[in-house]
Amino acid sequence: MDIILTGDRPTGKLHLGHYVGSLKQRVKLQNEGNFDKMYVMIADAQGLTDNFDNPKKIKDNIIEVALDYLSVGIDPSKVTIFIQSQISELTELTFYYMNLVTVSRLSRNPTVKNEIKQKEYEKSIPVGFFCYPISQAADITLFKANIVPVGDDQLPMIEQTNEIVNSFNRIYGDTLVNAKAILPNNEQAKRLPGLDGKAKMSKSLGNCIYLSDTSDEVYKKVMSMYTDPNHIKVEDKGSVKGNMVFTYLDVFSNDELIRKYSKYNSLEEMKKHYKKGGLGDVVIKKVLYNILEEILEPIREKRKYYEDNIDKVYDILKDGTRKAREEANKTIKEVRKALMIDYFS
Ligand code: ATP
Ligand code: MG
Repeated sequence: MDIILTGDRPTGKLHLGHYVGSLKQRVKLQNEGNFDKMYVMIADAQGLTDNFDNPKKIKDNIIEVALDYLSVGIDPSKVTIFIQSQISELTELTFYYMNLVTVSRLSRNPTVKNEIKQKEYEKSIPVGFFCYPISQAADITLFKANIVPVGDDQLPMIEQTNEIVNSFNRIYGDTLVNAKAILPNNEQAKRLPGLDGKAKMSKSLGNCIYLSDTSDEVYKKVMSMYTDPNHIKVEDKGSVKGNMVFTYLDVFSNDELIRKYSKYNSLEEMKKHYKKGGLGDVVIKKVLYNILEEILEPIREKRKYYEDNIDKVYDILKDGTRKAREEANKTIKEVRKALMIDYFS
């Protein structure tokens, strides 16, 4: 039985990092069809852990994220799209899992460590935020998902999930299923850096190209991208490593697209010229812009359709959430039984 589950926090619109890190993989898995069930969750409750003072932001972005899903081709007839907070079994399961995790184990989680620093929570961490890896374990296991297509920042979460699964099964008997992360094949796509060259394109860092950006916005953002600070004049020798334009070309282009939008036969040839000197940043940026537009234009068009039919989107969310709740109910009954708290059944 293969059950796939992923999700995103509705803390903003989805961006190219999500696209290459996770969305593309999801659509591929969906279309290959080698699974029994596939879920995509909008993690609003998790979004609230570090945005508890701004519920409107989370609320407004639920529909944006849903629009992003549908516009990249996630198909609600194949995939159950649901809203996390509406499945109360998730909160219940999180509570039981808290007994199986220590504070020191949570503090060692490298992704959480990083985010605590980024959010300046060092002095005082909200308990809810600190525990979000536990709630993420509940998300995955409540649906008995064994396949989780994510970016590599999520690997520590999957590891933590499996530790919980193993403890639970050892203490209470075989109930839960182990999960495996699926990462993108492309090295850089596992964690797409930001336009500014920072380690990760992230909503919270504001260094993103959003899937819903207009053509003009994309152009401006590409033109502002971090390249090689020592490549000042066109004749100067340029560095390809750490140059975001080439990093993105590595992820988004292929030789066919390079031939279509430049005078070069391959990305390798273009890189050689840049390294030798004589190839300007504006030229390489225009190539990247055109290639990104090939990907983004069809996404934009689909988005427009769903924006014009927004009632359909709400129906999809409602229907998906209802289906997810049915599934959640089955597992929580097994969990309660294993924990011997099924007193009245
Ligand atoms: P936030 O800053 O609010 O945490 P985020 O941009 O990190 O937002 P998430 O909703 O936390 O986005 O992540 C959703 C999924 O997208 C995860 O599977 C994550 O691994 C993947 N992802 C996010 N950013 C990137 C990126 N830059 N490169 C590759 N994958 C990414
Ligand atoms: Mg994140």
